[in-house]
Amino acid sequence: MITYYCPKCWQIVDEKEKNCPRCGFSLDEFSNQEYEQKLLDALDHTIPERRMIAAQILGNLNIQEAVPILKEILANETEDYYFLRTVLLALAKIDHPEKLEIIEHAKCHPSTLVSQFAQELLEKIEDQKNIETWDRFSG
Ligand SMILES: [Zn+2]
Repeated sequence: MITYYCPKCWQIVDEKEKNCPRCGFSLDEFSNQEYEQKLLDALDHTIPERRMIAAQILGNLNIQEAVPILKEILANETEDYYFLRTVLLALAKIDHPEKLEIIEHAKCHPSTLVSQFAQELLEKIEDQKNIETWDRFSG
């Protein structure tokens, strides 16, 4: 099950909803492409919660365009562990030829928590365990 958010106010909305029940934004007129772009832009949103949500949705929707940006975040962000954790989880879900390399590289991240998480994640991927179930920790 994929969670959808209103791109304007970030209310959780039903997939079939035509308008956001909170702010009335027309979800119908909003194309997939615009939605993806909005999510990509939100990755450097000043509100940490929105960055997290954006990373999570990009992973769930398997948006490959997010991979270079997620890679940048891992290279530059050192403080926000929960965000980096969500970024790593998102990477694990996206089908991209570079993803293992990027997660592998995160094992050398300056934050011990992040490097440990990258290690655990790689083991999970190698065991082909279901990464979906990890969402309850990242949400
Ligand atoms: Zn809304």
